[in-house]
Amino acid sequence: MSDCLFCRIAAGEIPARIVHADEHVIAFHDVAPKAPTHVLVIPRRHLASLSAAETADAPLLGRLLDACAGVARQLGLASYRVVVNNGEDAGQSVLHLHLHVLGGRGFSWPPG
Ligand code: AMP
Repeated sequence: MSDCLFCRIAAGEIPARIVHADEHVIAFHDVAPKAPTHVLVIPRRHLASLSAAETADAPLLGRLLDACAGVARQLGLASYRVVVNNGEDAGQSVLHLHLHVLGGRGFSWPPG
């Protein structure tokens, strides 16, 4: 989608600090990090949210989680949190599915 921020990052039209890229998935540092390490893992294909994914997307969802674990290994994170904000009330501000990988500090539970 030409007007989607994360599609434009995936297409290389908007610069980002990429930490992983393959045929299906891209990971890049969040521009406003909420932890010492904060990486966003996104599908190249536009999916507005987790809710928009279908059962047929399960392999892609698996790739996204696998990429989160790979990014954490690559960046030396032993403990980290993976977050998906789905919908406005949950804090989703960019309507392209993304998984937050947060690390480098402690996290409380339950989340706010
Ligand atoms: P969410 O609030 O879950 O939709 O997360 C969106 C995330 O995208 C936020 O943590 C933002 O800081 C991040 N973000 C917004 N614009 C950019 C950008 N151009 N490059 C990297 N991260 C971004």
